Formats: sequence, C-alpha cells, structure tokens
Amino acid sequence: MHFDWELSGTGWATCSIWDGSTKHRGSVSYCTNALADLLEGVAGLYGLHGTQRFSFDLEPAEERWILRRRSSDVHIAIRRFPDISASFDAPDGKGALVWTSTRPRTLLAHAVLMAVEKVLRIHGEDGYLRKWRLHAFPATELETLRRLHLAADDCALQH
Ligand SMILES: [Zn+2]
Repeated sequence: MHFDWELSGTGWATCSIWDGSTKHRGSVSYCTNALADLLEGVAGLYGLHGTQRFSFDLEPAEERWILRRRSSDVHIAIRRFPDISASFDAPDGKGALVWTSTRPRTLLAHAVLMAVEKVLRIHGEDGYLRKWRLHAFPATELETLRRLHLAADDCALQH
C-alpha cells in the first residue's frame, strides 16, 4: 500500500494511491481543506462509524472517497462526479467508480501518516501555507491520526 501527497504547485496537490496492482492519481485543489479532510476520514475509521466520506475538489470534478471498515480491513472506493457544484449531495452510486481496493486499516493509516509527515518535512508549516494558501497545515489532525494508529494498530513498520 502506497500513498503520496505532493504539493505540485500553488493551490494544487497530486494525490496518488496504489495497492501494488492498480494506481490512482488526482490533482486536488486548495478550494477545500483536503489534507485535513483526508486525515479526519482515516482517523474516523477508529471510531464507531464504519463509513467515512470526504471529497476533493478537482475543479470542476468531485472526487469522493468512501472508506468502509470491515473488521481489520478498509474497503476504499473512489468515485468521480463531473461537477462538484452539482454533485455534493448526489448519492455515491451516481459517481463513476474509478478506483477500489480493500487493505488492512493499519497499512492505509501508516501510508497516509508517512505521506503527510513527508509533506511537513519538505515544506514545513510555513511553506505549506504559502503553497496551499487557504488552509494551514493540518498539524492537529496529523497528531490525532498518529496517536490512534500507534495505540490501536500494533503497527510493526518503522516510524
Ligand atoms: Zn505504522
């Protein structure tokens, strides 16, 4: 399981996910607090709600991530809608399924943590804000996910 979040230009990030067999990539805009939404969505997999949803604004497309917890695994579905201004309330089934995978929660959380820590290492909080403009680096959300992952997942990978 690999995940990457690269600040590719001012107001844009390239989000990549691949599970060893298929890969998905999207260009995410700063219109939403996308990285915070991602961290909160993954952190939500440690709570009582089995399903988490968040959307990235691809200007104009909506890319909706639907994460469903199934015991120790997470089923990930990424759906694409042509116009986010029209689809925000649309049911999941109306969007085209562009990527799906089922992976252990611990591997998904670990991959997301590593990617966000890399963003912080490369840019720092000040550099992040200069690039993302509308939203500060999600330090609190990162810390929350790190705490949940380390407490609940028994992760054997290096941190
Ligand atoms: Zn880990």
